[in-house]
Amino acid sequence: MTLLDGKKVSNDIKDEIAAEVQQMKARGEKVPHLAAVIVGNDGASLTYVGSKVRACKRVGFESTLKQLPETTTEEELLELVNTLNQDPDIDGYIVQLPLPRHIDEEKVLMAVHPDKDVDGFHPTNFGKMALELETFISATPFGIIELLQRYGVETSGKHAVVIGRSHIVGRPISILLSQKGPAGNATVTLTHSRTQNLPEICRQADIIVSALGVPGFLKADMVKEGAVIIDVGITRVPDETRERGYYISGDVDFEAVSQKASFITPVPGGVGPMTIAMLLKNTLLARQRNRDNG
Ligand code: NAD
Repeated sequence: MTLLDGKKVSNDIKDEIAAEVQQMKARGEKVPHLAAVIVGNDGASLTYVGSKVRACKRVGFESTLKQLPETTTEEELLELVNTLNQDPDIDGYIVQLPLPRHIDEEKVLMAVHPDKDVDGFHPTNFGKMALELETFISATPFGIIELLQRYGVETSGKHAVVIGRSHIVGRPISILLSQKGPAGNATVTLTHSRTQNLPEICRQADIIVSALGVPGFLKADMVKEGAVIIDVGITRVPDETRERGYYISGDVDFEAVSQKASFITPVPGGVGPMTIAMLLKNTLLARQRNRDNG
């Protein structure tokens, strides 16, 4: 069994990006600038945004954190989005999800200018991704593809089963795995909460991508010998014996499934760090595009 070490690979990618930034600086160019918007005080969201800002520092990007109170109105948030769209100094930005319930998430994501949408959530970017055109690919599916590629995991002609059909992970990774090209050409089955006989379908899979958010959902008896297992799930499970009061669990029963898998991602340290690295990669791409378009 080979561990798909997202922590290590993401550090390699960050080193590559940092080297690129050094070259930009040496040429006297502006360095990439990522902004992150967060509304409210959700613990997990604050942790994610903090990691993204730290990652920017690590590679030499500029970063701006816009932290807004829980009481922010939709109108106020849309105003900030509009300001960021207009600001020539910001190459790309993200609006951390989830947003408070009184704000229409879809309306906000639609308002982000596609050229600055480094999360790849805007329909223009999602559509380009589906049509195999160059674009910002959502960081998590992009990270999975990159991880498979860097470990030389064969996907062509394989049967990949994706669990979960979210717009940010399940659906886009199912499209990417089926596309022509690197880490593609798989035969993909996209499963979800209404799927019947999921264990049986999983047992036929050469590759399983689990993105549902249920700790320990994927058991060893759902996995065939030699399968490649990608665990996207990140769930905080309450645990009073730990100082912070919880531990992080993936969707996969790692202990048992790793005995059968040929490749497997750990949680933490698998897909999570890759997501941040690919967000940086998208921001670098945004800067390069801005530079090249004058
Ligand atoms: P989501 O929470 O929006 O949706 C869950 C999906 O799982 C739905 O499509 C649903 O149909 C499916 N599902 C639920 N129960 C099921 C069942 N019993 N059988 C089959 N399918 C079922 O999905 P999401 O936003 O993609 O998040 C999924 C998990 O991935 C969460 O734990 C989230 O925290 C994590 N996540 C991790 C990263 C990362 O960087 N590693 C990024 C995004 C999300």
